Amino acid sequence: MGSSEIRIARRTFVRKLLMSGLIVPCLEPWSSGAIISELQSQKIPPSFFGPRSDTVVTWLGMAGVLVNCRGTALLIDPLITLVESEGEMLCEGHYRLRTPLPIESRQMPHIDVVLFTHADGDHFSRVTAEVFAARETTKFVAPPPVERGLLNLGVSKERIVTARDFDSIEFGAAVVEVTPALHDWQDENPWRRGDCCGYVVRTPDGSIWHPGDTRLIDELLEVKDVDVLFFDVAAVRSHLGPEGSAKLAVSSGAKVTIAYHYGTFVLPKGSYGNCDPKDALPYTQGLSARFLLLNPGEILHLPLPS
Ligand SMILES: [Zn+2]
Repeated sequence: MGSSEIRIARRTFVRKLLMSGLIVPCLEPWSSGAIISELQSQKIPPSFFGPRSDTVVTWLGMAGVLVNCRGTALLIDPLITLVESEGEMLCEGHYRLRTPLPIESRQMPHIDVVLFTHADGDHFSRVTAEVFAARETTKFVAPPPVERGLLNLGVSKERIVTARDFDSIEFGAAVVEVTPALHDWQDENPWRRGDCCGYVVRTPDGSIWHPGDTRLIDELLEVKDVDVLFFDVAAVRSHLGPEGSAKLAVSSGAKVTIAYHYGTFVLPKGSYGNCDPKDALPYTQGLSARFLLLNPGEILHLPLPS
């Protein structure tokens, strides 16, 4: 299949999703043959969190993901609270936003569980964690460095499940599987195995994999039966980058990949949060999985259309 045929096939797939109402409304990155460089967030309505008979998933920007599996709400790596700094509203962590947050933490009517992949500041931040720490019904899954941070915030041990590689934890109709990660990016005292992780959220309607920040380690190639893979476009040290993410798209059997870890914060070009998703195209061409560039807040419905 030539590149123009691939482009048409992808465009047809996106249109099919749009027509079926399974994704509303989807950015059509292929419609003009060019990728939109700036994201345009879409507000996530309160109805997202209500009871339902299927599963919905959306990207929150950077590494954040929100899932409602048949009424159970799961958050992954949320940085979704604004803070004032010298008269300017910034995203926590002192990140200046390139696109508005699709929803803020305090606007979420309920969250059953927050999953953290690791303790880097673009994945785990005190302010959002405090919002959910104050809600006694919210639980947490976290590897030990994040767990220590949550305990320091006053979260009781009973509300935290320690993330251990390959563990499975049930939340409503969803089963969360912990996948391993090696994200040893620091020159001194790098993260070690067990300090970081990823999550597969398995639902009756399909499976969603957020691999976290990680090198491509062999064990990740053994993760199977994935429908939606979050595709790390950060081509920087100790990340999957487009090449590793494309390999996981093949090995996991993903049908759809969603680009993430880019475009959200004002950061130097080519750095961990500002790689160009167009650079992923040489790796995504020829994959059976569709490569989607969603705006933050766009909603994908599962099951996916066949
Ligand atoms: Zn990161």
